[in-house]
Amino acid sequence: MTYDIAALKADLDGIAVEDNPQLVRLKSRDFFWYSPVLKRQLNKVAGDLLVAPKTEDEVIRALKVCHAHGVPVTPRGSGTGNYGQAMPLSGGVVLDLAAMSAVREIGPGRLVAEPGAVMQKIDEQTTAQSGQELRMFPSTRRAASIGGFIAGGSGGVGSITWGGLRDLGNVLRLRIVTMEAEPRVMDLAGEDLHKVMHAYGTNGIITEVEVPLAPSYDWVDVIVGCDDAMDAVRYGNDLARQDGILKKLITPIAAPIPHDFLSRNFKFTRRDQSVVLLMIAPHAMDAFLAFHGRTRGSEILYRSDTATESQRSELPPVYELSWNHTTLNALRVDKAITYLQVLYPFPNQLELIERIHGRFGDEVPMHTEFVRFDGDITCFGLPLVRFSTEERLEEIMAIHEDMGAPIFNPHRYTLEEGGMKQTDAVQLAFKKEADPDGLLNPGKMIAWEDPDYDYSSRKTYLFRGLELAE
Ligand code: FAD
Repeated sequence: MTYDIAALKADLDGIAVEDNPQLVRLKSRDFFWYSPVLKRQLNKVAGDLLVAPKTEDEVIRALKVCHAHGVPVTPRGSGTGNYGQAMPLSGGVVLDLAAMSAVREIGPGRLVAEPGAVMQKIDEQTTAQSGQELRMFPSTRRAASIGGFIAGGSGGVGSITWGGLRDLGNVLRLRIVTMEAEPRVMDLAGEDLHKVMHAYGTNGIITEVEVPLAPSYDWVDVIVGCDDAMDAVRYGNDLARQDGILKKLITPIAAPIPHDFLSRNFKFTRRDQSVVLLMIAPHAMDAFLAFHGRTRGSEILYRSDTATESQRSELPPVYELSWNHTTLNALRVDKAITYLQVLYPFPNQLELIERIHGRFGDEVPMHTEFVRFDGDITCFGLPLVRFSTEERLEEIMAIHEDMGAPIFNPHRYTLEEGGMKQTDAVQLAFKKEADPDGLLNPGKMIAWEDPDYDYSSRKTYLFRGLELAE
């Protein structure tokens, strides 16, 4: 694609822009390097210009100008996505929404905020002003924006009680701006939310979010040690089913991951010990201890409410050892680690985990996250993989699927391959309406780029724009 950047900049006069190539390149990247496959494919990707609107009016003007110039626009929150979601595969403008970070309204059970608001900051403000907090957050809470989470994430800490981000009721309203000659502003709620949620910003720019809040707690971090990895999974499963105990996190992780990768300063485990990481509401601790007392072969290794100051200072919040942070902590020690995203469907989660991990052993160390999924308790897997070759990685994923555990492939940059491997007709139809020229985050929605694509081929989709950009 060719466009006149100087003319584009002139037309954007009054909106903050940055064209220093190093800075633009930096803001064109996210955590794509998590995947050895994406690292190879996307390492050269960079936008041409960074545009940082401060208001919705500036978003509207920026989109109108980019549309007139035929320039692709890729939105960005904090850039913590790990599938290259926020990377501009065809160059063009990176629309940095970090400056739109105001919390606009806090009410009983609800929050209205701008998309760039960082989730930890939101929680600090809602807790101080109303004794409430977000129902769920990704383990990147410290950095991630609420708009980026809704457009690019799926759930995380809190999903054991509230389910996934896309479950009805976990987002209340989204305000979006379309990419047209005359951009429109729409408020979407109810069923319409699915038009743009987890669409990687391919069919609208979110300029305001309304999400529910829950009572906030000073959550107690607990680490339980188990002699056997499957004991840790069973412990997690049993605790997850205790409906009266309020919890925000249940994370079983197999030995030797906790010892080798998660306890660098404070060695809370033996090397042969598996763990369950937990966040328990303070008022539920007595009930939790009663539950724990009924279990065998497990011991409490750490409790933040009784830990010494020095122990507490040597451990991050326990959620920063969970979800995708488990992989990040492992990668800091061993660059050859990568990971998978697996669903172990209810009601066979325990049996599936045992069979699959029994098959792969230490090549695919077990890490699971218990969640409420369509009303049932089950778990996702974010197992580590001791990476050897891309072919072997593909083979490991194919074996998982053949054994009955669907993979949400984290080594792909498209919505479909990272998701259900099929066209999302609702998102596609909305893209035709809201981005008729296909300028928003090109290359991420296969259904738009190649409507006849055969998902059953198990091949990797290659966006032509990416080849041309090289
Ligand atoms: P970005 O990475 O900036 O953007 C994400 C996507 O949203 C991109 O496609 C971008 O184009 C689009 N986007 C951003 N802002 C807008 C907007 N205003 N309008 C439209 N589209 C927009 N994810 C989880 O779901 N759960 C986890 O627990 C979790 N843990 C993680 C741990 C680590 C260590 C890492 C690296 C990633 C993790 N992730 C997790 C992935 C990622 O952190 C989350 O998805 C996060 O919420 C993304 O927020 P962000 O602001 O960084 O978004």
